[in-house]
Amino acid sequence: MNNTQKISFIGAGNMSKAIISGLVDKGYLPTNIMASNPSAGKLDALKDTLGIHTTHNNQEAIDFADVVMLSVKPHLMHSVCAGFTLHNLDTLFVSIAAGLTVKRLREFLPENAHIVRVMPNTPSAIGLGMSGIYATSDITDSQVHLVEQIMQSVGKTVVVKTEDDINTVIAAAGSSPAYFFLIAEVMQRAAIDMGMDKTSARTLVEQAMLGSASLMQKTPELELSQLRAQVTSKGGTTAKAVESLQQDNIDKIFARAMQAAVARAKEMS
Ligand code: NAD
Repeated sequence: MNNTQKISFIGAGNMSKAIISGLVDKGYLPTNIMASNPSAGKLDALKDTLGIHTTHNNQEAIDFADVVMLSVKPHLMHSVCAGFTLHNLDTLFVSIAAGLTVKRLREFLPENAHIVRVMPNTPSAIGLGMSGIYATSDITDSQVHLVEQIMQSVGKTVVVKTEDDINTVIAAAGSSPAYFFLIAEVMQRAAIDMGMDKTSARTLVEQAMLGSASLMQKTPELELSQLRAQVTSKGGTTAKAVESLQQDNIDKIFARAMQAAVARAKEMS
């Protein structure tokens, strides 16, 4: 990764910590990174463990950086960003806040600010994140590439074409860890109801989920339906279970859930 760009994080919470750790782990120079936060505890931990610069002054972090990662809670973004002054007009602002559109961000970021939206998800904390990236037309390819590299330090990225696509990213990847946890939870409960102990039930479900996800990643040449067919012998146990899920309209259940997530994202923006 190009190690010369300076990156600041406004807000040193969970997501910033994950990305900063990922960057330093991948060899990014800690002295090219700064984090700003009102309280000292999180900053001291980042400074001591990772060797980055820290400050309580957001403007100092803006002045330090080529790329500013806006990483505070969405409802605080307005008050946090309202007073920023931009000395370097090429500064790139990357908002990871869910639900704040570029139009909304423009209302409180400095005039003519260059803005990219990123939607990461929680597995970023263990380096297995999935982030969608949306860049406005004034953003250069090398700036987009830089944001990709930053987010690839905690997982995979897709660059989407329209801002609406970010809502699909939210439905398919931002919120979906919760769908998978829910599936694991109901399967664990069903196994317990069949007489399995709780720990074994969790191990069975967890390992099957992890193995299936790895299998998907390792065999990109196979359609998902082909992978499913490989586990499904005609008239066998899997066929019966899948038939039951399809009779219960699993397609519609998930389509409706994802549409609900998109509708909520639109309401929030
Ligand atoms: P967090 O609460 O852990 O971190 C936010 C940090 O901002 C806190 O450390 C807080 O002290 C700090 N802060 C508050 N006021 C500030 C100010 N005036 N100046 C500077 N810092 C200030 O939240 P998080 O989970 O890291 O989420 C950060 C952003 O990332 C949110 O906008 C959230 O929507 C987005 N996001 C998070 C996830 C996730 O999985 N955690 C996923 C997608 C998007």
